[in-house]
Parts: sequence; structure tokens; C-alpha cells
Amino acid sequence: MSDATAKKEQRRKFQAIRGTRDLLPPETALWNRVEQTVHEVFTTFGFGEIRVPIFETTDLFARAVGGETDIVSKEMYAFLDQPDLSDLENARNAVKELNPGITAAGKQELFELYVSNFISEIHKHVTAQDINLPRRAQSDFDTIQDRFRDLLTLPDTKDEDTNNKRRHLTFEIVIKVDLLRFGESISLRPEATASVCRAYIEHNMLQLPQPVKLFYTGPMFRRERPQKGRYRQFYQIGAEVLEGTRPEVVKDSPKELSKDAVIDAEVIEMLMTFFDKVGLQGATLYINSIGHNAENCRRGYVELLRAELQKEPERLGEDSQRRIDTNPLRVLDSKLESEQAIIATLPHIADHLCDECKTHYAAVKRQLELRGVLYQENWRLVRGLDYYMRTTFEITAPGLGSQNAVCGGGRYDGLVELLGGPPTKGIGFAIGEDRLILSLQESGKGQTQQGRDVYIAWMGERAYAAAIRAARDLRSAGFSVELPPVEQKFGKALSQADKLGAKYALILGDNEVSEALWTLKTLSTGEQEKFPEPELIDFLRQQKNVSS
Ligand code: AMP
Repeated sequence: MSDATAKKEQRRKFQAIRGTRDLLPPETALWNRVEQTVHEVFTTFGFGEIRVPIFETTDLFARAVGGETDIVSKEMYAFLDQPDLSDLENARNAVKELNPGITAAGKQELFELYVSNFISEIHKHVTAQDINLPRRAQSDFDTIQDRFRDLLTLPDTKDEDTNNKRRHLTFEIVIKVDLLRFGESISLRPEATASVCRAYIEHNMLQLPQPVKLFYTGPMFRRERPQKGRYRQFYQIGAEVLEGTRPEVVKDSPKELSKDAVIDAEVIEMLMTFFDKVGLQGATLYINSIGHNAENCRRGYVELLRAELQKEPERLGEDSQRRIDTNPLRVLDSKLESEQAIIATLPHIADHLCDECKTHYAAVKRQLELRGVLYQENWRLVRGLDYYMRTTFEITAPGLGSQNAVCGGGRYDGLVELLGGPPTKGIGFAIGEDRLILSLQESGKGQTQQGRDVYIAWMGERAYAAAIRAARDLRSAGFSVELPPVEQKFGKALSQADKLGAKYALILGDNEVSEALWTLKTLSTGEQEKFPEPELIDFLRQQKNVSS
């Protein structure tokens, strides 16, 4: 690299990674307001906050979300979490580096010593729980030990056959030693429902009064193609209701179905209350039932769909053609213009639900009506994640272009069990916070208070002491205050106060200090008034109450 290139490289500007972005003030104030409203509204419905880790084992997401989904098959940020164990790596290198010389006299014994050392290092670290061997690593390690045992039992003869066997075994051991990875594949979370279910099991929440109602907020990560409203690090606000089912409960009895429907409707009611409180306008709620995984219900419908789609596959795009085999339901999701006419002729799932799912869906609609929640039915709403059953819903909002879904959710009975927990019912949703904020901004509901309440324009040593005291008292009364660190001429101070969007300038000079009367200038009108120190805060308080 030339000197010039090296210098240029050094001066290279760092930028946020594609699909990620900085959230800056004053916009962050809007984010805070939204999250504050989440806490206020969700707690009134009896939900408590859960904070789950940003990363989990890749397996957890693969199992919960589904290996065939886009999220798991191509969008996860997965990496090997490898421990840094230098003694183990030294033992590995010793085996690898000796390899080319193993046929030379005297090297064989050394090789055996090094392999045996490598094996015992692994045992040591496994016992100390510094490493755990994932399934594939365990099988590789077993092979190394087996081959090593075979190597040691070879007769000490020089015939060609034995030598060949020795060479072969040695070769295999070296390759496996080289490839053995101790780390575990972990992934940045692409969503949080899987983690919440994992936490429900891990903390034995079945012991708590059921259902357990939890909410979360935080970043999620998916390697999608970035565009407006679609990022690689984005934020979700979500809630889950989990209810372990006692053994005596009769599954899908009329009583249970009706209770589930009430829970579904209440979760949706909470969501719409939140959107209303936060000022989201024009939100539309779409609902559907995708039945349950049985021959007389969704499975039967999926087969019917597959048969229909197979009649003329060439009329479909590449993605949909592939989905005829992998997941025909996802064809209904397609936004491709050319496929819309074909999709419109496909059978509707509502006509193929089993009796229980029909009863449940009718009850959900009734419960929503009872709560005054407006909805539209959308038979094509299937959602992209594997774990949903019965109720699915989505909310769209204006001002978002093609990525107009601000929230998606549904029922997922059985997910906790799939992750190794007890039989448990579940329903939840995730709001895309980035899109919610965008929509609020587009509709003019995104304004947040900017600037400072008070800018203190001070001049002179004595005035500075009073200014420090004034700043402290005003801040502890909850006002935002800018106290410039150096003395400024009043004209300059006032123009600075204007630039910062301050409402008032508190003028403190020699006169004010000697008279013990402070001058307050309202910057929008230019009016000035004098106050004794204690009355100033009362006056500002009153003004704040009037304007809020
Ligand atoms: P999902 O977890 O896929 O059901 O998504 C729930 C909600 O999260 C969606 O309705 C979107 O509002 C939001 N969302 C999903 N993926 C992204 C993304 N890549 N960027 C921004 N928001 C997203």
C-alpha cells in the first residue's frame, strides 16, 4: 500500500453499517414518549416487563421460528462463539505441525503423545465447563478418540499393510483435530417470542398464577434488504400471554375455546388502546384464523391449496413455485402483481376450518365487537412464522409505502412445548417501532418538545454564582436549563438562546444581583419581567402548567 493510500485509509470515514442507523435527538424524545406509553398502557392490562438477551443459541430460533422461514434460512446474524483457550490451541497446533514428519523415525511416539495431550486437554476443559461440545463437535471428538485407540493397538511391525493403516489413521486424526470446533452457534435475535418462551420454561413460570403476561421492547436483527421502514437492526415492542394448561383441562372444550377467544380479543384491545394513546391515525386491524395443524383443518386446506397451485405452476413466479412444495400458505402472502388474479381464485381457509377452530374464530370476532374494536377480515393473512395457529392479525398504518405493516401477531399454542416446556397456550404480537415512529412523523403526530426551557445569560463573577444556584434550583424543579460555561455579551447570549430553541432567557447581571430581582425574557414575545428569586420558579411552573 502506498503512503498516500495508507493515509487515505486512515482518514476513511466510518459509517453505520448498512441497514443500521443512529437515532438522534430530538427524534429520540419521540421514541421515549412511545416507550413510556407502552409502559403506561400495558401495565394497566396487567403486563410486566421482561428483558431477554440480545443473542441466544441459533437452535432456539431455528426450532421456534422454523428452519424453512426466510428469517432462519437467510436472515439471521449467526456466528460461532468460540472460547479462547490457548493451551488447547497449542495442543492442537502441536498435533497439526508434527503431521508431515510422522513417518520419520522417532516422530510416531511424539505424535501419539501430542494427540493424547490434545484429548486430555479437551476432557479437562469439558470438566471445568469452559467448553461444551455441540452435537457435531462431540461426534468429531468421539471419532478422534476411536481412531487414536485403533492407532495405539496397531502391532509394532513394519509391514506395508500396517504402515498404510497407521498412515491412514494418522491422517484422519489430524484432519479431525484441525476441524474440531468447540464453540456454539449463536445468533442475534431476529424476534423475541422464542426467547420469552425459553425464559418461561427456564424460570418455571408455570408456578406463577396463569396466564403470565409479559411485554418487551428492544432491537431485533434480520439481514433483509434495507429500504424505507425495513432495517437490519430494527426495534420491536411486543407482548406475550402464556398459559400453562393443567392436566385436568379438557383441550378445546367450549369453555376453553371461549376463554382463549377472550384472551385474544383483550390482547388486540390493548394493542389498539396503545395505538390510540400514542396518536397513531388511520391504523387498520386485519384478522384471520389459520386453523390448527390437523388433517381435518389446516393440513387438509394446505393440501387443497397445493393441488390447486400445481394445476398451473408456470403462472406463478419463481418464489411461489418453490413454495408449492415447501409452504403453499406463503403463496397467499405474495405481493407480485402478476400472481394476484390466480390467488383470488384459490379456496379460502375459513371454509376448511375444523369445528373447534370455527367456534374459536367466531368467538374472537364477537369479543372484539363487544370491546368496540373495529376489524377487517383478510383470508390471505397467514403470517410468515411457523408457530402460529388459529388467530392471526396484522395492523397497517398510513405513510409507510410498501412496508406498511406496523404490527403482526397471533396465537401459538404448542410453541413452549416444542421448546421442551410443559403444554402451554400462547398469544402475542410484535409492533415495528421504527415504522410506528415513521407513521407518527408522517401524520404530524411526531412532534416532541424541542429546545430548552431556560437559557441563563449571565455576566460578571457575582452573577455567575447566582446563575449556578438558579440552574440547580430550576433543574431540580424539572426545567431544562442551559448554563453557558463562559461569560457572553447579552446580545450574543440571546441569539444563542434563540438558536437552541429556548423559551426564556434568564438575565443575570450586576444590577439583578444587587437588586435581588432577576430578569426573565420570554423569547417568543420579547417581553421582560422582573422577579424576586423565589417567585421566578413559581411563575415558570404556572406557565408550564398552562401550556401543557
Ligand atoms: P414479525 O416479527 O415479522 O411478525 O414482524 C412484526 C413487525 O415488526 C412487522 O409488522 C414490522 O412492523 C416490524 N418489522 C419486521 N421486520 C422489520 C425490519 N426489517 N425493519 C423494520 N421493521 C420490521
